[in-house]
Amino acid sequence: MIILDGKKTSQDLRNEIAEEVSKITTKGYRPPHLAAILVGNNGASITYVNAKIKACEEVGFKSTLVRLSDTVSQDELLEEVEKLNQDESVDGFIVQLPLPVHIREQKVITAIDPRKDVDGFHPQNLGRMALGMTAFAPATPSGIIELLDRYNIETGGKHCVVLGRSHIVGMPMSLLMSRNAYPGNATVTVCHSHTRNLDSILRSADIIIAAVGRPNFVTGDMVKDGVVIVDVGITRIVDTEKKSGYRLVGDVDFDSVAPKAAFITPVPGGVGPMTIVSLLKNTLIAARLRVRKTSK
Ligand code: NAP
Repeated sequence: MIILDGKKTSQDLRNEIAEEVSKITTKGYRPPHLAAILVGNNGASITYVNAKIKACEEVGFKSTLVRLSDTVSQDELLEEVEKLNQDESVDGFIVQLPLPVHIREQKVITAIDPRKDVDGFHPQNLGRMALGMTAFAPATPSGIIELLDRYNIETGGKHCVVLGRSHIVGMPMSLLMSRNAYPGNATVTVCHSHTRNLDSILRSADIIIAAVGRPNFVTGDMVKDGVVIVDVGITRIVDTEKKSGYRLVGDVDFDSVAPKAAFITPVPGGVGPMTIVSLLKNTLIAARLRVRKTSK
């Protein structure tokens, strides 16, 4: 069994990105600039946004955090989005999800300029990605594709089961795994809460990508020998022995699944760091487009 080490792979990628940033700044251009809008005080969201900002600093990006109260109105949030759309010093930005229930997430995502949508959630980017056109692909699925690529995992002709069909993970993941490219060319089955005979579908999988958000949902008896496991799930479980008061648990029961797996991502240290580095990669792409435009 080989661990798909997202921590190490993302560090390699960060080093590559940092080199690119220094090439851009040596030529006299400003560094890539990522902004994030964070609404409210959700603990997990604060942790994720802080990790993204720290990652920006590490690779030499500029970052800006816009914090808004959870009582902000939808119109006020849309105004902030428009400000960042218009701000020429910002290459890309994200609106950290989830948003408070009085705000329609899709309305906010659709208001982002697709050219600055480095999370890849805008319908235009998702549509372009589905058609195989250049687009910002969502960070988590892109990070998983990068991880499979860096470990040379065979995907062509394999049966890949994607557990979950969310707009940010499961759905784009299934599109990327079935596209005519490497990694891809898999025969993909998408499972969700209405799926019947889930156990037997999982047992026929060569690759399982689990994004359900249910701790230890996939157990050893549900997988076949030699399976490749990508565990996207992150659930905070109260743990009084930890300094933080919680620990992170994936969708896959690592202890019973790992002995049967050929490759497996750990939680934490698997998909999470790859997601962050993919966001940096998208921001770098946005910055490169700016440099190309201004150098003409
Ligand atoms: P989500 O929007 O809640 O979607 C969960 C999906 O799982 C839905 O499609 C749901 O089906 C399906 N599901 C729920 N119960 C099921 C069951 N019993 N059997 C089969 N399918 C079931 O979640 P998400 O945003 O995709 O996130 C999933 C997990 O990944 C969460 O733990 C999240 O924290 C984590 N995550 C991690 C990263 C990272 O960087 N590592 C990034 C994003 C998300 P229906 O569609 O029928 O409801």
